Amino acid sequence: MKVVYLDNNATTAIAPEVFEAMTPYLTAQYANPSSQYSFAHSVREAVETSRESIATSLKIKSSELIFTGSGTESANLAIKGVAYAYRSRGNHIITSEIEHPCVLESCKALEKEGFEVTYLPVNKEGEISIEALKSAITDKTILISIMFANNEIGAIQPIKKIGDIAREHKILFHVDAVQSVGKMPVFPKELNVDLLGFAAHKFYGPKGIGGLYIRNGVRLEKYISGGHQERNRRPGTESAANVVGMAKALELCINTMVEEGEKERELRDYLETELTKRIPECFINAKNSNRIPGTSSITFKYVEGESILLSLDMYGICVSSGSACSAGDLAASHVILGIGVPIEEAQGTIRFGVGKYNTREDIDKVIEVMPKAIEKLRMMSPLYNVK
Ligand SMILES: *Cc1c(COP(=O)(O)O)cnc(C)c1O
Repeated sequence: MKVVYLDNNATTAIAPEVFEAMTPYLTAQYANPSSQYSFAHSVREAVETSRESIATSLKIKSSELIFTGSGTESANLAIKGVAYAYRSRGNHIITSEIEHPCVLESCKALEKEGFEVTYLPVNKEGEISIEALKSAITDKTILISIMFANNEIGAIQPIKKIGDIAREHKILFHVDAVQSVGKMPVFPKELNVDLLGFAAHKFYGPKGIGGLYIRNGVRLEKYISGGHQERNRRPGTESAANVVGMAKALELCINTMVEEGEKERELRDYLETELTKRIPECFINAKNSNRIPGTSSITFKYVEGESILLSLDMYGICVSSGSACSAGDLAASHVILGIGVPIEEAQGTIRFGVGKYNTREDIDKVIEVMPKAIEKLRMMSPLYNVK
């Protein structure tokens, strides 16, 4: 059975060009980039050329970019690193209720150590309120951490406005840009962002590598002990293959960003139009927000997301209910609850992530299968029958 992969917000397929660029560093060029002999020089050079290429794409200096193991690690390093380094200045952090678990859990871990965290609510389009942000700021606030685009509903936050406020109050600003880098222009300096994280596997690069922009002058306390790699901020031998792969993947995305975005938006809109036409009692989340192009979150009343997911799985269709990180627990997604969907409806939410390898035939398959699947589930649902 052909797999219809519509979960590109969870991870993406590695692009063939990326795999090709990585191969030499998985085979012949295996030296440790930190070694002194000539055999290692070309590996170090590949790492640094890749760093420069990514830095140029983000309009930052290569000295401001370090490599990590994932998007999760980038967020942990940024948030905990800043919190520990600036503890003497204050203990207050501001974030939002709909962040990825890597941000929320980092904040919760800090709360156990005496930090205070404000979780800003969002409106039904998934956006924080600038006024609420301003009034949350105290003279103890050291960090604001707000995501660029949400992984479940695609909503984009007003990053420039937040950055201006942070800069004005001399508060550091961290942005989880894992769903944005590779999909839209991201220039942290123009947005007054001080720290910004991303992950290659969300834009057709390899898994196991992330990046973190740290503006020159920002102090970070590292929490992994070891050698002096990555400007003494992230010890451990760099994976040259992954670094080269991430640079190649970003280059490809940037070269095709505009056409790709248009294509994905068209496929997503087609999917949303047809599903809402053919299936009663469903609605699109954050529909009127400024969304990243490929993301669609739809809530189907009187059914459970898990059951929909499993029904689609029988046809080889891959989607997500909630985020991959929270899938498996039956609680409704904090993001869908955060935008004000009542808990009993929130559980019936499916996220589609359209990506560059999707075709119109993929969407047609979903349109064909899903109305019948939902109808069948609803017939068995006690919630539907008492209606
Ligand atoms: C996927 C994702 C992460 C986590 O990245 P990993 O590389 O999987 O650790 C963080 N934030 C957002 C918005 C994501 O979509």
